[in-house]
Amino acid sequence: MAGLTDLSLAAMRAGLKAKQFSARELVTAHVEAVEAARPLNAFLVETPDHALAAADAADGALARGEAGLLAGIPLGIKDLFCTKGVETTASSRILMGFVPTYESTVTAKLFAAGAAMLGKLNLDEFAMGSSNETSAYGPVISPWRAQGSTAKLVPGGSSGGSSAAVAARLCAAATGTDTGGSIRQPAAFTGIAGIKPTYGRCSRWGVIAFASSLDQAGVLARDVTDCALVLEAMAGYDPKDSTSLDVPVPHYAGGLTGSLKGKRIGIPKEYRVDGMDPVLEDLWQKGIDWARDAGAEIVEVSLPHTKEALPTYYVVAPAEASSNLARYDGVRYGLRVAPDGGSLSDMYAATRAAGFGAEVKRRIMIGTYVLSAGYYDAYYLKAQKVRALIAQDFARAFEACDLLLTPTAPTGAFELGAKTADPIAMFLNDVFTVPASLAGLPAMSIPAGLDGQGLPLGLQLIGRPLDEMGVLDAAFALESRAGFSAAPVRWW
Ligand code: GLN
Repeated sequence: MAGLTDLSLAAMRAGLKAKQFSARELVTAHVEAVEAARPLNAFLVETPDHALAAADAADGALARGEAGLLAGIPLGIKDLFCTKGVETTASSRILMGFVPTYESTVTAKLFAAGAAMLGKLNLDEFAMGSSNETSAYGPVISPWRAQGSTAKLVPGGSSGGSSAAVAARLCAAATGTDTGGSIRQPAAFTGIAGIKPTYGRCSRWGVIAFASSLDQAGVLARDVTDCALVLEAMAGYDPKDSTSLDVPVPHYAGGLTGSLKGKRIGIPKEYRVDGMDPVLEDLWQKGIDWARDAGAEIVEVSLPHTKEALPTYYVVAPAEASSNLARYDGVRYGLRVAPDGGSLSDMYAATRAAGFGAEVKRRIMIGTYVLSAGYYDAYYLKAQKVRALIAQDFARAFEACDLLLTPTAPTGAFELGAKTADPIAMFLNDVFTVPASLAGLPAMSIPAGLDGQGLPLGLQLIGRPLDEMGVLDAAFALESRAGFSAAPVRWW
């Protein structure tokens, strides 16, 4: 049926409930869209059988009046979430052929709510990157193109398959993970919404680890309401994750008021970085005006350690990654390269040399270095101390305001290959997203406008710990005022 893939997730729920179409029709339309969009390379594995079985179950549940929150809703799953019986590789060669025998808590919750998984989405290898170009299975191509150009653009990263798939209308929403910006930056690059909840809000159990003290699951979707619906289904306490928070999950979609009366929105002055694109600066000012129009009081705040966030992140994250990735040794999972007549160590070395890509190797080397005797105090311990100061900055700012409003990323999407030769230029993408990650705070990006080339730009809202509701509600207020309606023109 034509038009089904253009519906928002909320509209899909309403249509299913009103019996305007069946879950099978809805899911079939998306399965076909996924097949037709292979040039984007957004999906690593397509699981139409899984999706159609879930659709039939949803049709049954809908008929009985027992439908879950996401009954029959077609979703994409970032390939960092382990899915029982479905190959899961984290976009790495080292996990090629790995088929988990268990289901991650987040995907189990989504399936229990009735969601239909269309497949596993491409990402940067082990979620390390900002452009989805470090994937061992090739880059994801953004469905967007700059005005008057056919050059291939990046969809952001690391959740680039997720952002491309949602923006291209291949799925209603997708899971993402965000360690330093991997939900928010790709959402901004592709003109969609994305929320990273508070660290501990969603279970990490069954999510392939990158940097355990920063990794957090979340959602990318067309708009704020859709993010609220999916987040509600995936969040919640899990005794299998020792950092999971045992607090009730609010009914997010029901709490969206669109009013910011009585709220103070903080504008951190350190985020006004030199050389910021004037279009972005202008958009930020518009966001401030929209917030004021919604009833908020605007206050300037200071986050003095903002400049230190990026270097701190690029010590802490690689340190944790080097330790987490030590488990990939050719013995237990995926790839094994055993040189003839070689020793066990030869097998480890050959497997890791062949299995990891350049960016992952760079992180493992940096991480091992900053954790080694003699450098631990100078780098890792120092970074941990600065991280505490960054968290303290936010705590102080939240004495003067309820939420922070900033740009999501310093630029819009760039061309494939534009930053691959310069890791620092690539790391700079994360300058506005990394601080909230280090402090474990909930943060969200919403599409707010277009840059000079007609490409999407996002605004970011950051909230107090566990105040996803406040973040979503403020985002909802800004979203209705931004009136962002641009979508990629189909070329694939
Ligand atoms: N771009 C950042 C990095 O490469 C963040 C990635 C993420 O959030 N997973 O580490």
